[in-house]
Parts: sequence; C-alpha cells; structure tokens
Amino acid sequence: MMGLIENADLRPLNTLGFSVRARFLAEPGDAASLCALLRSVTARNLPVLILGGGSNVVFSGDFPGLVIRPAIKGIRIIEEDDRSVLVEAGAGVVWHDFVMHAVNSGLGGLENLALIPGTVGAAPVQNVGAYGVEIKDVMESLTAVNRISGEVRVFSGSDCAFGYRESIFKQQEKDRWVIIAVSFRLSKRPVLRLDYGDIRKQLELAGCHAPAPLDVARAVIAIRSAKLPDPRHLGNAGSFFKNPVVTREQYERLLKSSPALVAYPQTNGVKLAAGWLIEQCGFRGQRRGAVGCYEKQALVLVHFGGGSGHELLELAKEIQQAVMNRFGVPIEMEPSVY
Ligand code: FAD
Ligand code: NAP
Repeated sequence: MMGLIENADLRPLNTLGFSVRARFLAEPGDAASLCALLRSVTARNLPVLILGGGSNVVFSGDFPGLVIRPAIKGIRIIEEDDRSVLVEAGAGVVWHDFVMHAVNSGLGGLENLALIPGTVGAAPVQNVGAYGVEIKDVMESLTAVNRISGEVRVFSGSDCAFGYRESIFKQQEKDRWVIIAVSFRLSKRPVLRLDYGDIRKQLELAGCHAPAPLDVARAVIAIRSAKLPDPRHLGNAGSFFKNPVVTREQYERLLKSSPALVAYPQTNGVKLAAGWLIEQCGFRGQRRGAVGCYEKQALVLVHFGGGSGHELLELAKEIQQAVMNRFGVPIEMEPSVY
C-alpha cells in the first residue's frame, strides 16, 4: 500500500495527548485514494480506524491496524440564491476554519459552533453542538463511503438520525462509513441565537449592539477561551460526559433533595447539567496521578502528561459511580474509546 507510515506516533493526533502508536497511518488527500486504500485494507483484513482531529477519542492502547485520516480539503459553493448559500466542505477541512470562512463571508448558521476542535468530516458523527445550535440545524447532506463495500452514498439530515450528541454514525452504523464531504445551507439573513450561556453578555461587553455572525463567533471564541483548557497546553477531549435527560417525575424528586439542581426542560424530559452533578460529588480540581477533573469545569477530564487512557477511563468510572450513588442518574461518556 502506498503512502503508509509504519509504527506511527498518535500522540500529536489525539487532543488528550496519550502516547500510543498505530501499526500504519495514511492520510489520503482525495476520495479516489481513500477508496483505493479501503479496498486494499479489506483485502488484507486489517482493522481500520478513521481519525479526524482526535478531539473526541480516548486511546486505551496502541492501534493494531491502519489509522486513516481523510485529508480531503476544499470549500466550494454549490448553489446560491438571494437568501442562502449551499456550501460543501471536504472532510479534512478544520472545523473552526470552516466556521470562520462562513462568518467572514457574512453567512450565518455556524457562528455558535466556533472554536470546536476537529474536522468537518467528524462533525456530523456526534451532531456537534454548542450554545443552543447543532450541526443538524444547518447541514443539508453529507457524502460517505462504505468502508467494506466501497458504496458511495449521500445522506440527508434525516438519514443521519441526529440526536443530542448522536447520529447513526455513532450508533447503529458506527465505524461503517467514512464521511468525505458535508454540505451546509447557510443564511444571508440569519436569525442569530444569542440567548444561550453568556453570548449576549459577551456582546455587550464588546459594545456590540447589532451583531453580525462574525461578532457572535468572536463572542463564543472569547467565552470558550476563558473557560476551556486548550489541548495544546493541557490534554483533554472537551466535555467527557453527556448531560443526562431524566423524566419530569425523577427531576421533581431530585429537586426536593437538591434544590440547587441545574436543569433545563426539554421536549423529552429534563436535561441535567452533568458538570454540576460531578462537581457536587467533589471531583472538580481532583487529580488521580497523571489525570484529573479540570479545576474550572468538572465536565472536562484532563491529562497532565505521562498517563494512559486506562487511567482516564478508571477515573471516568469512579465519577459515573459517584454520580449514580448520590443522584441515581447514569451519565454516559461522550468520546469514543479505541
Ligand atoms: P475525532 O476525535 O478524530 O473522531 C471522533 C469520532 O468520529 C471517531 O469515532 C472517529 O472514528 C469518527 N470520525 C472522524 N472523522 C470521520 C470521518 N471523516 N468519517 C467518519 N467518521 C469519522 N463537541 C461538541 O459537540 N461541542 C463542543 O462544543 C465541543 N467542544 C470541545 C472542546 C474541546 C476543548 C475539545 C477537546 C473537544 C470538544 N468537542 C466538542 C468534542 C470534539 O471536538 C467534536 O466531537 C469534534 O467533532 C470531533 O472532531 P475530530 O475531527 O477531532 O474527531
Ligand atoms: P455552560 O454555558 O456553563 O452551561 C452548562 C450546561 O448547561 C451546558 O452543558 C448546557 O447544555 C446547559 N445550558 C446552558 N444554558 C442552557 C440553555 N439556555 N438551555 C439549555 N441548556 C443550557 O456550558 P459550557 O461548559 O461553558 O459549554 C458551553 C457550550 O459549549 C455548551 O453548549 C456545551 O455543550 C458546549 N461545549 C461542548 C463540549 C463538548 O466536548 N461536547 C465542550 C465544551 C463546550 P448543553 O451542553 O446541552 O448545551
């Protein structure tokens, strides 16, 4: 197989910074080379892992097969009318660069999703979301290749069965498709979502009274930079657990014992802030050897260096158990473990 790196170091390729290796690594730059690569690994029966920016994975050890990082670049306009633009980006485009490309062109829809690490190709996998916006709100379709059969298929938003940090690519079709391009319907007259978290406050601080998408992206960047650890300095995979959704009855019961419970009503129940639950169990700022719970946000687990995915997963289990014992609520891990 051409263009393969043997015994590749994955430490710079996962934001937790775990020191693991892959038997082979390849970075195909176009769909044809990706398909050829998939055909040859199927013939050799090698395990395959698709990797983007490595910001939502935990490596529990070396990977015994081929890691493929789609390096398919390019952003192109597919169609345009007086209200919107349909834009397609390659899977290997850096997500934040794509967001900034859109807002710098005055297009709205992605501004609340600024500064999320990773690639365009990985963004639909967990329906990335932040500040009340999810990729499903703006995604028109995506193109993916079946890893085994080589079939190329276009998925509409509804084909992807998007949910809260979920899609078929994380559930029933997990590790079956390689996303090669994603298209987005961006608006020339956007309705901005400013009522989530501190966005409005941040815009006021910046003296911005009639915000454009670029101003909102800048506000989100400022909030996130102040709150979240930068993986270049402290290994992390963002929020380590999803916010659990409980029934109305369970919420009422919990509220009696914990009147300060942080919760948000949803159509399917009540969403609890997992970070708050973890903090109540005393984990914020706690360290277990080379890993720990971030001091400013208990939902983020961090790696100080020299540790392993195994240690981090042990801490994650301890946290899940403590939250279950105290509140009777299961919290599910967000990153995928390999
Ligand atoms: P990776 O971690 O490389 O991969 C994630 C999963 O997607 C893996 O299962 C992988 O096999 C699969 N995958 C990757 N590329 C492809 C492809 N082309 N085709 C098919 N499958 C693929 N997430 C949010 O939703 N909202 C946030 O606000 C947010 N903030 C974060 C902040 C920080 C500091 C960090 C470290 C993470 C944050 N995340 C957030 C999580 C993460 O950035 C997103 O899930 C991101 O989309 C992952 O992209 P990636 O390219 O790094 O994917
Ligand atoms: P935050 O603003 O401190 O809020 C804490 C939690 O409350 C969040 O998890 C958020 O849920 C929820 N919340 C806040 N305002 C809400 C509202 N108006 N309606 C419903 N739910 C509300 O959170 P943060 O940690 O600083 O993160 C800010 C945003 O970035 C959040 O949307 C978060 O999901 C996203 N983020 C995600 C990751 C990741 O790795 N997945 C990492 C960092 C930040 P939601 O999480 O459901 O939005």
